Amino acid sequence: MGDTARIMDGKATAALVRAEVAEEVAELVKRGVQPGLAVVLVGEDPASQIYVRNKDRAATEAGIAVRTLRPETDISQADLEVLVRGLGADASVHGILVQLPLPRHLDSAAVVEAIDPRKDVDGLHPQNVAALAMDQPGLVPCTPAGCIELCDRHGVVLEGSHAVVVGRSQLVGKPVAQLLLARHATVTLCHSRTRDLGAVVAAGDVVVAAVGRTGLIRGEWIKPGATVLDVGINRGPDGKLAGDVDFEAACARAGAITPVPGGVGPMTIAMLLRNTCRAASSLSGPIPSPSGAAGAGI
Ligand code: NAP
Repeated sequence: MGDTARIMDGKATAALVRAEVAEEVAELVKRGVQPGLAVVLVGEDPASQIYVRNKDRAATEAGIAVRTLRPETDISQADLEVLVRGLGADASVHGILVQLPLPRHLDSAAVVEAIDPRKDVDGLHPQNVAALAMDQPGLVPCTPAGCIELCDRHGVVLEGSHAVVVGRSQLVGKPVAQLLLARHATVTLCHSRTRDLGAVVAAGDVVVAAVGRTGLIRGEWIKPGATVLDVGINRGPDGKLAGDVDFEAACARAGAITPVPGGVGPMTIAMLLRNTCRAASSLSGPIPSPSGAAGAGI
């Protein structure tokens, strides 16, 4: 069988979302609100440096005022929390993002809890985690939101589908499962102790792979016509990026599939910009908008 799957182009879809965000930002600026995003980067992690640079560039392009704070790598827990709380009190800042992972001497959970939940554009504060679990409005984690957005913009019907999510992290697996459930999919959540992963994946109309292991999801597991969202980002010995799904083999069976790179990754940044814009909008009071974009919910 030759390649048959439709490629879900995350780069192109993210460009559309970013253009929409840029319009919303321009609208806010006209009303006297300049959306602002503060990014806190501690330490020298090379991947984090790249992510932060990309976020800074994309936000600036969308008209968002970005401020990147780089405290000393040995900053104390208390000082970092004071810094983050200060951003919460700063009216020019509508979105706060603490780039993870933090250096080992810092307690990430406590730092995230110091973020004003209304400005928590990564959707990781316990208040936003609870809101998602309780189907209440809140800021939703960017990568999971990007997965849903990709489905919506590619005509993938989630309601009534069987969605199989592989990976149960707080950052991706769990929230994407909750979002799929909120969209009326029947959700199976897999992890490292799942027995016969292949058989479980084979039942999925929608498969989300969020593990971090190259080629874990084999092509022959994919149900013919299924939609495959590959969140994994793995760097091979040759320096090339690959996802968690055996892409070539999966292409022969899937109905639609995201590539790595150029699939879910670009959507993550687009959703970050959208969250920032929504946070700015809701923090500055309800703004009448025909698109109904004034709330911070999903
Ligand atoms: P994580 O916190 O390490 O979680 C990995 C999950 O995979 C865990 O729940 C783990 O199960 C599960 N797992 C490990 N081995 C497994 C196996 N053999 N079979 C089934 N499940 C297995 O990772 P993460 O933060 O969710 O990230 C996952 C991947 O997505 C990484 O490659 C990361 O780089 C990528 N990512 C991409 C984006 C993006 O923008 N595209 C954003 C975030 C992350 P247990 O819970 O049982 O240990």
